[in-house]
Amino acid sequence: MSLVRVGCGVRAEFAWGVYDDAHRLAGQDADFSEPGDLHWCELPADHRGFSPQCCAFLGAAPNGGVWARWDREADPLVVEVVALPACPASSGDPDSAGTEACTLFGDHLCGHSWEFGQED
Ligand SMILES: [Zn+2]
Ligand SMILES: [Zn+2]
Repeated sequence: MSLVRVGCGVRAEFAWGVYDDAHRLAGQDADFSEPGDLHWCELPADHRGFSPQCCAFLGAAPNGGVWARWDREADPLVVEVVALPACPASSGDPDSAGTEACTLFGDHLCGHSWEFGQED
Protein backbone atom coordinates (compact mmCIF):
# COMPACT_ATOMS: atom_id res chain seq x y z
CA MET A 1 0.00 0.00 0.00
CA SER A 2 1.89 3.02 -1.22
CA LEU A 3 -0.91 5.56 -1.00
CA VAL A 4 -1.75 6.56 2.52
CA ARG A 5 -4.67 8.74 1.48
CA VAL A 6 -7.35 8.07 -1.09
CA GLY A 7 -9.88 10.14 -2.95
CA CYS A 8 -13.42 10.44 -1.72
CA GLY A 9 -14.88 8.17 -4.40
CA VAL A 10 -18.42 9.56 -4.19
CA ARG A 11 -20.06 9.96 -7.60
CA ALA A 12 -23.10 11.92 -8.70
CA GLU A 13 -25.03 12.60 -11.86
CA PHE A 14 -26.28 16.16 -12.22
CA ALA A 15 -29.45 17.57 -13.74
CA TRP A 16 -29.47 19.95 -16.71
CA GLY A 17 -29.93 22.95 -14.44
CA VAL A 18 -26.47 22.41 -12.98
CA TYR A 19 -24.89 22.90 -16.42
CA ASP A 20 -27.08 25.94 -17.07
CA ASP A 21 -25.79 27.44 -13.85
CA ALA A 22 -22.22 26.57 -14.78
CA HIS A 23 -22.55 28.34 -18.13
CA ARG A 24 -24.05 31.34 -16.43
CA LEU A 25 -20.92 31.57 -14.29
CA ALA A 26 -18.28 30.78 -16.91
CA GLY A 27 -19.86 31.90 -20.18
CA GLN A 28 -21.81 30.09 -22.87
CA ASP A 29 -18.63 29.13 -24.73
CA ALA A 30 -17.11 27.33 -21.79
CA ASP A 31 -16.38 23.68 -22.37
CA PHE A 32 -18.19 21.58 -19.80
CA SER A 33 -18.87 17.91 -19.65
CA GLU A 34 -22.31 16.78 -20.68
CA PRO A 35 -25.39 15.97 -18.67
CA GLY A 36 -25.45 12.23 -18.10
CA ASP A 37 -21.79 12.08 -17.14
CA LEU A 38 -20.93 10.85 -13.69
CA HIS A 39 -18.86 13.26 -11.65
CA TRP A 40 -16.45 12.16 -8.97
CA CYS A 41 -15.88 14.07 -5.79
CA GLU A 42 -12.32 15.38 -6.09
CA LEU A 43 -11.62 15.76 -2.42
CA PRO A 44 -9.76 13.21 -0.29
CA ALA A 45 -11.82 10.63 1.52
CA ASP A 46 -11.15 12.18 4.91
CA HIS A 47 -12.93 15.42 3.93
CA ARG A 48 -16.13 13.76 5.14
CA GLY A 49 -14.88 14.12 8.67
CA PHE A 50 -14.77 17.89 8.20
CA SER A 51 -17.67 18.55 5.87
CA PRO A 52 -20.34 16.34 4.32
CA GLN A 53 -20.18 18.40 1.11
CA CYS A 54 -18.62 16.73 -1.90
CA CYS A 55 -17.12 18.80 -4.73
CA ALA A 56 -16.72 17.99 -8.41
CA PHE A 57 -14.93 20.07 -11.03
CA LEU A 58 -17.22 20.99 -13.92
CA GLY A 59 -14.94 23.09 -16.09
CA ALA A 60 -12.54 26.00 -16.30
CA ALA A 61 -13.65 29.54 -15.57
CA PRO A 62 -11.71 32.77 -16.19
CA ASN A 63 -10.16 32.88 -12.70
CA GLY A 64 -10.27 29.26 -11.66
CA GLY A 65 -12.99 26.73 -12.12
CA VAL A 66 -16.67 26.04 -11.81
CA TRP A 67 -17.44 23.48 -9.14
CA ALA A 68 -20.53 21.61 -8.11
CA ARG A 69 -21.00 21.10 -4.39
CA TRP A 70 -23.49 18.70 -2.95
CA ASP A 71 -24.31 17.11 0.36
CA ARG A 72 -23.77 13.39 -0.04
CA GLU A 73 -26.43 12.64 2.55
CA ALA A 74 -29.14 14.74 0.92
CA ASP A 75 -31.94 12.96 -0.91
CA PRO A 76 -32.98 14.28 -3.36
CA LEU A 77 -29.66 15.66 -4.49
CA VAL A 78 -29.24 19.41 -4.00
CA VAL A 79 -26.38 20.85 -6.03
CA GLU A 80 -24.81 24.25 -5.57
CA VAL A 81 -22.78 25.58 -8.52
CA VAL A 82 -19.98 27.95 -7.63
CA ALA A 83 -17.06 29.64 -9.39
CA LEU A 84 -13.95 29.33 -7.25
CA PRO A 85 -10.35 30.50 -7.69
CA ALA A 86 -7.75 27.79 -8.21
CA CYS A 87 -5.59 26.61 -5.32
CA PRO A 88 -2.21 28.32 -5.83
CA ALA A 89 -0.18 25.51 -4.25
CA SER A 90 2.14 23.09 -5.99
CA SER A 91 4.14 20.17 -4.67
CA GLY A 92 7.55 21.74 -5.21
CA ASP A 93 9.61 24.02 -7.40
CA PRO A 94 7.42 24.84 -10.46
CA ASP A 95 10.46 24.47 -12.75
CA SER A 96 11.46 20.98 -11.69
CA ALA A 97 10.13 17.82 -13.27
CA GLY A 98 7.60 15.92 -11.22
CA THR A 99 6.13 18.99 -9.60
CA GLU A 100 2.37 18.80 -9.52
CA ALA A 101 0.03 21.75 -9.24
CA CYS A 102 -2.94 21.33 -6.97
CA THR A 103 -6.06 20.80 -9.07
CA LEU A 104 -8.47 21.86 -6.33
CA PHE A 105 -9.97 25.26 -5.55
CA GLY A 106 -8.47 27.76 -3.14
CA ASP A 107 -9.24 27.36 0.58
CA HIS A 108 -10.13 23.70 0.16
CA LEU A 109 -10.14 21.43 3.19
CA CYS A 110 -7.67 18.65 3.88
CA GLY A 111 -4.70 17.96 1.66
CA HIS A 112 -3.71 19.17 -1.80
CA SER A 113 -4.57 17.03 -4.79
CA TRP A 114 -1.11 15.49 -5.17
CA GLU A 115 -1.21 14.19 -1.60
CA PHE A 116 -3.83 11.54 -2.21
CA GLY A 117 -4.77 9.08 -4.92
CA GLN A 118 -7.98 7.66 -6.29
CA GLU A 119 -9.30 4.46 -4.82
CA ASP A 120 -8.99 1.54 -7.23
ZN1 LIG B 1 -16.58 13.75 -1.30
ZN1 LIG C 1 -4.52 22.76 -2.92
